[in-house]
Amino acid sequence: MSQSAMQPTIAGWFTDGDQPRLIGTQCCDCGTYFFPKQELFCRNPNCTSTRFDEVELSRTGRIWSYTKHYYAPPEPYISGEEFEPYTIAAVELETEKMVILGQVANGFEPEDLHTGQEMEVVVEKLYEQDGTDYAVWKWKPKAS
Ligand SMILES: [Zn+2]
Repeated sequence: MSQSAMQPTIAGWFTDGDQPRLIGTQCCDCGTYFFPKQELFCRNPNCTSTRFDEVELSRTGRIWSYTKHYYAPPEPYISGEEFEPYTIAAVELETEKMVILGQVANGFEPEDLHTGQEMEVVVEKLYEQDGTDYAVWKWKPKAS
């Protein structure tokens, strides 16, 4: 099954295709980036803007910190049927310099990661329902 046939578990968080990107917003006035999308008011305390552009964020970044989680993620993250501990990484985006926390791709443990490591956004199947594959985005160590 091709990757493009998968449906995102949450619509509008990332783009389709072989080079997926997270979708965020950027404040029209102060230029601050947000992910998940911020659309009502700017979180910059010095900015009163209510106007935002939807933007595709850098698809690569570098690890700022990482850990293993032993409890189920809160909404809007959706875990599979049986909860298993998973690795998460806080990654600083290449261009925007904002830190985005996300699950790490299947098969990677904290021992496989190090601070400053280059990561990229990937889309992985999370579960199948009624013949449709549902997908989430994750951080994956970038192949050099
Ligand atoms: Zn702003």
